[in-house]
Amino acid sequence: MAKKVVIVGGGIVGCMTAMELVKRGCKVTIVERNQVASQTSGESSWAGGGIIFPLLPWQYVDAVNVLTNNSANTYRELSERLQHETGVDSNFEQSGFLLLPSFDVAAAVAWCDNNQVLAEPVKASAFAVQSLSGEDALWLPTVCQIRPPYFMQAMRHWLVQNNVTMLENTELVPLQQTDVLNTWQTLKGDILTADQFVVTSGAWSFELLKKTSAQLNIKPMRGQILLYKPQKNLKQIVYREGFYMIPRRDGYLLAGSTLEDVGFEAAVTREVRDEISAKAQAIMPELEGMPIIKHWSGLRPGTPENLPTISAHPSIGNLYLNTGHFRYGLTMAPASAKLIVALMLGEQPALDASPYACH
Ligand SMILES: Cc1cc2nc3c(=O)[nH]c(=O)nc-3n(C[C@H](O)[C@H](O)[C@H](O)COP(=O)(O)OP(=O)(O)OC[C@H]3O[C@@H](n4cnc5c(N)ncnc54)[C@H](O)[C@@H]3O)c2cc1C
Repeated sequence: MAKKVVIVGGGIVGCMTAMELVKRGCKVTIVERNQVASQTSGESSWAGGGIIFPLLPWQYVDAVNVLTNNSANTYRELSERLQHETGVDSNFEQSGFLLLPSFDVAAAVAWCDNNQVLAEPVKASAFAVQSLSGEDALWLPTVCQIRPPYFMQAMRHWLVQNNVTMLENTELVPLQQTDVLNTWQTLKGDILTADQFVVTSGAWSFELLKKTSAQLNIKPMRGQILLYKPQKNLKQIVYREGFYMIPRRDGYLLAGSTLEDVGFEAAVTREVRDEISAKAQAIMPELEGMPIIKHWSGLRPGTPENLPTISAHPSIGNLYLNTGHFRYGLTMAPASAKLIVALMLGEQPALDASPYACH
């Protein structure tokens, strides 16, 4: 009999976990309190920029880079396969990443060398960033992007085609401590049964598990993004001191984002809009006076050191956690899903799971 698994949360981490389970013959249900592949109240995956690279990887512990490195090189094939099987184009692009000063040049070059990431010292002017003509920059030509709302749509189609049940507009209640989990109750009082459960509830994971023994350290961190449509767009992702601009294939340009510790408040603010648009204009003066087409936010599952929890629950049998991917959940999701599924099915994981253990 196929193993029955309930996944709690239908963001990128839940969807990718479902995909890996389906490939192993499991019978999967995703429970999502809103809709999979849409955004209602701060879900992070829809809102993300879609850069498949940790912005400054040399600032992170190895366990973060192990996940991002092992995921990033799977995205081209994954996007192509999703497009082939669902008809939905995720807008995967190898647009490259132009890193503007100031940054730790020696650390950046050393990290790129050690991780086989191409890096070339250049002048920003070579990339038509006129306002920065004299600046020394670093060009990482192999960095890629996806368009998160499209990628999520493709995932949703693939999962439905592969018989994953989408239990949408269904919220699970916070869990009480128990020895073994066989059932979980919805807010409306329905009881869901499964052989195994996986929490992939992003920023909401701590609330869901706080009455259990799991010591999770996850809190929402809001990020806001602006969308422009300039007459002449950038050709590559440009990054400077915590701020980035991402050109899309159809001429749109994202500018963002922020890291705000404001709880579950998902509303966008005028101050941040002004702050982001000033930073965007400093790189592209022609944006001055241009309409902002859209302004949105998402709540990242913030964790110390950006380290997710990918682990069995420390004391509740049949319960697993794949959550807390903070700034790089889109990048990390493929490797993270493979790891949790190996743990769930008792397989030998390809990566060392110990840095992501829950205590
Ligand atoms: C502005 C911004 C820019 C970003 N840019 C990038 C980037 O360029 N590259 C990158 O790699 N990452 C980026 N990220 C981070 C990335 O988006 C997140 O790490 C990732 O989306 C987390 O995925 P998730 O599935 O864990 O969470 P989410 O997408 O938030 O999904 C969790 C889901 O669980 C559901 N849920 C919660 N509680 C319950 C419940 N009780 N019952 C049922 N369902 C529940 C929620 O509704 C939600 O849909 C960005 C994030 C933001 C906000």
